[in-house]
Amino acid sequence: MSLLSKLLTLIENIFIYPTLRVWGLSILSILRFFSYKSESTKKYLYDNTLNNIPKKKGIFHPQNKEHIIRLIKVAHSNHATIRVVGSGHSVWEAIYAQNNNCIHIILGGDFKKIHSINISSDGNFALVNVGAGCHLGRDPNDRESSFENSFNFQVDQKGYALPILGGMSHQTIAGFLQTSSSGGSLEHGIADVLEEIEIINGKGETIILNKKTNEDKFNASVVSMGLFGVITRATFNLPKKYSVEGTEINKEFKDSLLVNDKGHYRKLHDALKNYEYFHMNWFPQKYVQRTSQWNGNLVSPELPKKPYKHLLKEKFMNVLAALALRISNLTEIIIGGNLAQRIIGLVLRTFIRIRKPVHFRDLWYKVLPNDDQADVDRLMKTSYTEIWFPLEKIDEVMGTLERLFRRKPSYAGNFAIELYGAKNSPYWMSPSYKRDVFRVNPYWWGRNLGDPYEFFEEFWKVLLPIDGARLHWGKYMPKPGEIYGEHIFGINYLRHCYPKLNNWLDIREEMDPDQIFVTNYWRRVFDIRKNI
Ligand SMILES: Cc1cc2nc3c(=O)[nH]c(=O)nc-3n(C[C@H](O)[C@H](O)[C@H](O)COP(=O)(O)OP(=O)(O)OC[C@H]3O[C@@H](n4cnc5c(N)ncnc54)[C@H](O)[C@@H]3O)c2cc1C
Repeated sequence: MSLLSKLLTLIENIFIYPTLRVWGLSILSILRFFSYKSESTKKYLYDNTLNNIPKKKGIFHPQNKEHIIRLIKVAHSNHATIRVVGSGHSVWEAIYAQNNNCIHIILGGDFKKIHSINISSDGNFALVNVGAGCHLGRDPNDRESSFENSFNFQVDQKGYALPILGGMSHQTIAGFLQTSSSGGSLEHGIADVLEEIEIINGKGETIILNKKTNEDKFNASVVSMGLFGVITRATFNLPKKYSVEGTEINKEFKDSLLVNDKGHYRKLHDALKNYEYFHMNWFPQKYVQRTSQWNGNLVSPELPKKPYKHLLKEKFMNVLAALALRISNLTEIIIGGNLAQRIIGLVLRTFIRIRKPVHFRDLWYKVLPNDDQADVDRLMKTSYTEIWFPLEKIDEVMGTLERLFRRKPSYAGNFAIELYGAKNSPYWMSPSYKRDVFRVNPYWWGRNLGDPYEFFEEFWKVLLPIDGARLHWGKYMPKPGEIYGEHIFGINYLRHCYPKLNNWLDIREEMDPDQIFVTNYWRRVFDIRKNI
């Protein structure tokens, strides 16, 4: 081989091949995205029996139970798949049907409203009955959604509150429950206040499941990924409203809670235990090595307010952050190696600046979903995979991650890894079922070139072999059949993780014997065999 052709091969290997590959994968992801349809199949959109049910962009918006029952009947007689969309924040496949005989619905009308608020005789609690399509906060993607009609605002006005919220509050009540979404707290969970749900199952029957009187079915149905039926209402027993007082602080890794003591991550463990609300963004890139810590505690709502201000509150800052992420992503693809790491370090450090701690004190629904202030649906749109571990596995998990980034710095990506916790849950399919958990949530910026799946795979390879690992149902998950440590991801692995899985599958079968809510994605995950 001539020197010239050797040189060309080298250039090709170093620059062109990875670049083309990444472009190719990006184009593939875009094509894959468009090959899935969010619309219902055309014949249903023009079906006479369904024509008085409002529709928008190919999705039915049932306004009442009669509409839902009619949609289920039509799905039934046509062997169609029927799926409910909340605010659409989970991965595409977890929500929509992947076949061309489907009916998609978004709950409308009464299902978006609070029906009643009954205050207890001592005034300490309010029993709130709400349509399952009501958004927790304002969903910027839904034109009908406003602060005034959000669940959080309305219950706060009456003097009551949910004990916990996720990092943003665009979700619908049912979407939040169905994937076992949780905020960062070992002390507060949604199960503390959820009393009852109403569900219309695959047979078109309306079933009310109460926490006390139908314990098993209730605990099975709350987290069921849309596979049991349409959740139409929820009832919460809410405590009095509160404020959250806390601090946000950026630190160098060496000064942060992530420093270990002979392999024990005690400081992190204690922070998860001692703060009522806690989450941390870790930037593990070789030349960034910083953390952004957010912690808070519950205080009286009467205390003077000091509003929380997100770094990305202003549109301009979102543009700058997107630019920084774009530069870092391209640098890694085009240059790679240590030089890329240095450039990424330079760019990201300008954002995650070490500054004085920022203190805040404000109402629960303004502070807990702190990412509501950032443009998470557009410029900062992000994909995630999230793995939940028993709290006592924290040393093993953190040690594994640190070794991963030392071995291959590029696995640290160009964004953050969120670390937080969740309270143990009674719901059979919750990843925190019967144990407090430590959660690892790697971010993949939605506009990165490349394949998020490939990025997340590196985390699955090292983290899923840790005993007790369970995945968030609304985020990226491995494909069934892939091997991680001693486990093949799929039904047997899930049986190992979830002790009540078989009972859950039995109840699923009873609720939806004709499998009208089962999509190809969930069929593969839970090995649900087609009815003959
Ligand atoms: C920016 C961002 C931040 C996030 N932060 C957190 C966080 O802090 N903590 C956390 O745990 N998760 C978090 N998530 C994940 C998010 O909470 C989940 O994806 C949640 O399920 C989204 O709710 P949704 O209303 O968008 O439901 P969708 O994503 O639309 O639906 C979720 C599932 O519920 C089903 N479903 C929806 N409505 C009904 C119904 N009425 N009846 C039956 N089934 C139904 C759907 O079919 C689907 O299977 C975040 C996601 C994003 C994009």
